Amino acid sequence: MKLTMIGLIALATHLFVGISYAQPAADVSSSNATISNELEQRVIEWRRDIHQHPELSNREFRTAGVVAEHLRALGLEVTTEIAHTGVVGILRGGRPGPTIALRADMDALPVQEMTDVPFASTATGEYRGREVPVMHACGHDLHVAMLMGAAEYLAGVQEQLAGNVMFIFQPAEEGAPEGEEGGAELMLKEGLFDIAKPEAVLGIHVWSAGTTGHIGYRKGPLMASSDRFEIRVRGEQTHGSRPWGGVDPIVVASQIINNVQTIVSRQVDITKAPAVVSFGIVEGGVRNNIIPDEVYLEGTIRNFDMGIRSQIFEKLTTTAEMTAAASGAKAEVTIHEGYPVTVNDPELVARMMPTTERVIGRDKVYEADLVTGAEDFSFYAMEVPGMFVFLGITPPNQEPSTAPSNHSPYFYADEAALRVGTELFINWALDYPATH
Ligand SMILES: [Zn+2]
Ligand SMILES: [Zn+2]
Repeated sequence: MKLTMIGLIALATHLFVGISYAQPAADVSSSNATISNELEQRVIEWRRDIHQHPELSNREFRTAGVVAEHLRALGLEVTTEIAHTGVVGILRGGRPGPTIALRADMDALPVQEMTDVPFASTATGEYRGREVPVMHACGHDLHVAMLMGAAEYLAGVQEQLAGNVMFIFQPAEEGAPEGEEGGAELMLKEGLFDIAKPEAVLGIHVWSAGTTGHIGYRKGPLMASSDRFEIRVRGEQTHGSRPWGGVDPIVVASQIINNVQTIVSRQVDITKAPAVVSFGIVEGGVRNNIIPDEVYLEGTIRNFDMGIRSQIFEKLTTTAEMTAAASGAKAEVTIHEGYPVTVNDPELVARMMPTTERVIGRDKVYEADLVTGAEDFSFYAMEVPGMFVFLGITPPNQEPSTAPSNHSPYFYADEAALRVGTELFINWALDYPATH
């Protein structure tokens, strides 16, 4: 029943959009392709539906089903179950031209929704062996809905379209569950770009630090790399009253924490790119008068230059090992490489900027500050030129800098941004071939 209804609506909209687009198709570079109010409404409905049914990373089964069904109804070539739940649709334009990829991520977070929207999530999921509340607290529900809307519009103008559009619906951007692989890296590993190798990949992230419909962009590095490190400091247990009877890993751990501070402040060239090294876990000992055998440290490394990144890995290891050795202890450093630096291709940004400014208004496009958060969009952008932008979703009557941030239980998105994001995807896809 549901299948038939959606199929009919899709077909009706498909036809309607196709007809309504007929005139502006001749000159896409000077006029905006805009979506009908009816399609906007459906994008809003998709978003609310997905918001009400959020799914954790690598568990996006329902979401992937909704997306795949939609893309098939539009007549796209659809591949499913790539990187667990990923869905890819290829739309082949009626005219020759390059292939470009548009990307949306699909996963939600273990967060208890505290907003008062009528479609607030009451869903739960399993996270680290426990049942947890689940919420689309990073706005990936908006990404999915916008890209579904863009696919529908572009399918409606397939004959006029030059080149092909690859729609990437990606799982697990927030990170796969422990012991699993996932996200962009796994999609590539499983042959995403063997389906089609795009000439460029474009992505949008909604964020509350921007006003609805405003776009923050940046040429070059935009978001940091994110790597987790563990340090095990091994000493030798002794009584707290007789420290000379062993090797105290607590004092050594504190020295390591201090000495590591000089990596960013003294040892890497900060004129190239800023960097952060933070400790988040210090664990050791059970009782006031027992010096333990071992102390465990864990932290995160962020930066904006892949060269500096490897320097920090090396210096962190040397600093920990040598500091420990000076006291007769041992430090074992393990670095778990996470997401690389998200780098926007300067030439691609320059090419797509006129379209971006035309679609949303020049006064609403601004150069974003560097963001020390990370994105696995970076993996695509290491393979082909990439452009990732931030779309503001905080209503104009509110101060975006104080709005609840992404990942907050109070994260709120102004749905007026959905039209903007959908039309950006559409116009980028239509204009890209002409920017050669
Ligand atoms: Zn997030
Ligand atoms: Zn996100």
